[in-house]
Amino acid sequence: MPIYNYRCLDCGLSHEIRHGFHETYDGVCDACEGVVRKYFGDVYIAASATPTRGMHDGKTIDWSGTKTKEREKERDMAAYKRLRSEGIQPKSINGSAKMEREALTSHEIKAGTLLQGPKSEKKRKERALNDVLGSG
Ligand SMILES: [Zn+2]
Repeated sequence: MPIYNYRCLDCGLSHEIRHGFHETYDGVCDACEGVVRKYFGDVYIAASATPTRGMHDGKTIDWSGTKTKEREKERDMAAYKRLRSEGIQPKSINGSAKMEREALTSHEIKAGTLLQGPKSEKKRKERALNDVLGSG
């Protein structure tokens, strides 16, 4: 008896089934109980000539990059609104999320500059900012 190759229409699992030339296998897929059909190699070679997954992935990367920027903008806008509602006027919407997260004083947010470096340096900058903006 010849061995026939059947393939599941749902999950693609192939089954080797031995039956007579004039018989037809009418069972279901072992894995998902889907419908199986006799598998002809040349049909599958044609199917695999469709665009590769890699091409789709390239587009996906571009999309995620755009979406990351969109999310950053949304976060900046949300942080900007929160800061405004607290009576703090950020220098710009751009970077407001970072300011909200990292700034230690409202002056930093208003000036649009984060105080960084060693503590003494930080204190000095803070004093300088206080001089410019007034304390409070
Ligand atoms: Zn299946």
